[in-house]
Amino acid sequence: MADRYDYIIIGAGSAGCVLANRLTEDGTKTVLLLEAGGKDNSILVKMPAGVGSLIKDKGAYNWGFWTEAEPQLENRKLWWPRGKGWGGSSSINGMVYIRGHARDYDQWRQMGLTGWGYADVLPYFKRSESLEGGGDAWHGDKGPLHVSKASTPNPIYSKTIEAGAEAGYMTTKDFNGFQQEGWGPYQLTIKDGERWSASKAYLYPALKRPNLTCVTGARTSRLILDGKRVSGVEYLVDGQKVTVNATAEVLLCAGAVQSPQILQLSGIGDPEDLTPHGIKVLHPLPGVGKNLQDHLDVCVSWECPLPITAYSRTKGLKTLITGLSYLLFKKGTGRQQMLESGAFLRSRPDLDRPDLQFHTVLAIMQNHGKTVIQKDGFTLHVCQLRPESRGKVGLRSADPNDDPTIFANYLATDEDRRAVREGVRMARKVAAQAALDPYRGEEFSPGKAVQTDDEIDAWIRKNAETIYHPVGTCRMGVAGDALAVVDEELKVVGLQGLRVVDASVMPTLIGGNTNAPTMMIAEKISDVIRGKAALPPQDAPVYDGEAVQAA
Ligand SMILES: Cc1cc2nc3c(=O)[nH]c(=O)nc-3n(C[C@H](O)[C@H](O)[C@H](O)COP(=O)(O)OP(=O)(O)OC[C@H]3O[C@@H](n4cnc5c(N)ncnc54)[C@H](O)[C@@H]3O)c2cc1C
Repeated sequence: MADRYDYIIIGAGSAGCVLANRLTEDGTKTVLLLEAGGKDNSILVKMPAGVGSLIKDKGAYNWGFWTEAEPQLENRKLWWPRGKGWGGSSSINGMVYIRGHARDYDQWRQMGLTGWGYADVLPYFKRSESLEGGGDAWHGDKGPLHVSKASTPNPIYSKTIEAGAEAGYMTTKDFNGFQQEGWGPYQLTIKDGERWSASKAYLYPALKRPNLTCVTGARTSRLILDGKRVSGVEYLVDGQKVTVNATAEVLLCAGAVQSPQILQLSGIGDPEDLTPHGIKVLHPLPGVGKNLQDHLDVCVSWECPLPITAYSRTKGLKTLITGLSYLLFKKGTGRQQMLESGAFLRSRPDLDRPDLQFHTVLAIMQNHGKTVIQKDGFTLHVCQLRPESRGKVGLRSADPNDDPTIFANYLATDEDRRAVREGVRMARKVAAQAALDPYRGEEFSPGKAVQTDDEIDAWIRKNAETIYHPVGTCRMGVAGDALAVVDEELKVVGLQGLRVVDASVMPTLIGGNTNAPTMMIAEKISDVIRGKAALPPQDAPVYDGEAVQAA
């Protein structure tokens, strides 16, 4: 190992793996990739059905954070899984491939963030992607990230789409194409029955390059500042401090929870957050850790009279058989991740884009799957896409081994509470349709007794959980924005030699799952770092919602 590299990347997650690949591809620069966790060589990571175990347990692949008490959720502390090790959260995620709504990015451009409109980012989504069956105006077919189409024959997926249409909602064939809105099948980051994480797509193909060095078990404890220039990184291996220098830049890719923590540990942040922990303020930057946004989710579930859902698939020795047939022949239900259809809908007709997302899951889901319900059933997950509520990530102590504090501040506004409540009603409306008659038994949760606004709100307060999409804690902003942490090129405001490149830079949550958008961000910034011209903007047509409002 050398003591200096051109670039040091902190965190081998969705964004870090993309950068490790792109910055080493022409062979001219040396790159060190530091990851606190290990390699991702577990069957549970490889096998899509392994996601159920990875999400619920703290361990080698999951940091397993908890939030602080959430006042609008009965002061409950919520479980927050985050990926650890190569691939980061893309190694434990649900593998749903979604980009968000075109207007989410146009909104960023309207905030003054040049180069981040839909037409600007679409070419980068396409560059990263290889869609099964070939590309089109919206999809790529030559990128490292394999995207497959939902393929499971389980009727509950197709019948919820049919039921959605019966309930009067739109349907769509491609959430990432012309029309996001409606009920439809999900696309998945799975190839040939294997999870296609960021490490699988980007890191493994780059491992043989002599200019890439990867160190695992290396937990960054702080950035080293030389005046206003970040010149290197201090990290811990087995409790021992190691320092390494960056001649060009340090790229912080530790995710929406730990990127702000590392900045704060390094004396970069709001003095009010640092001084109580005895950390010397080297660069006051009040926005660090603020603006936390996440997708809050509730599970509306029904029993199923047929033995076709997760319970029947896993009871007795079936889990063992699933594992063995996957291990030996790569066959069976281990190839599936159990959420293959869903919807993007508006909770009010006057909205300009869907504000609710639904995931159909083949199980009665409770508490992230930690509570196992011994019955066949299915769930319509309901999550609000653009919460008004804002939370905060902060330091628990100056010890880099301590978990940071996470306060999501869920449901702090009337509009957020209304949207989730309406989502529960919309899920019930869909499940009541004739298409689901053969598959729908008793409503398991919330249950028939929960009907009025007050009853639904009380049930939400007791049961809502994260659906794992925190962003915004090192948000992008324009010059003069006092709470911006990074500029449009993701350079940390007021410092040289440091960028943040991960989900934390999103100024507002996009309407959908956040893995593909995070990888897009890293793809785009890799060109900026390399001094390459941006890909030419592309104007692909998108449905603008007018027809629905007129109807
Ligand atoms: C359980 C779960 C399910 C999800 N499901 C989906 C889904 O189906 N579809 C979807 O699109 N999105 C999903 N997401 C969200 C998506 O995966 C994330 O938004 C995305 O992976 C974030 O990428 P990132 O690069 O910002 O951070 P991460 O991928 O989390 O990477 C951060 C990396 O930094 C490392 N790190 C942290 N601190 C340090 C340190 N001090 N030193 C060194 N390394 C450090 C971490 O170990 C990790 O590897 C899910 C997320 C989770 C957790």
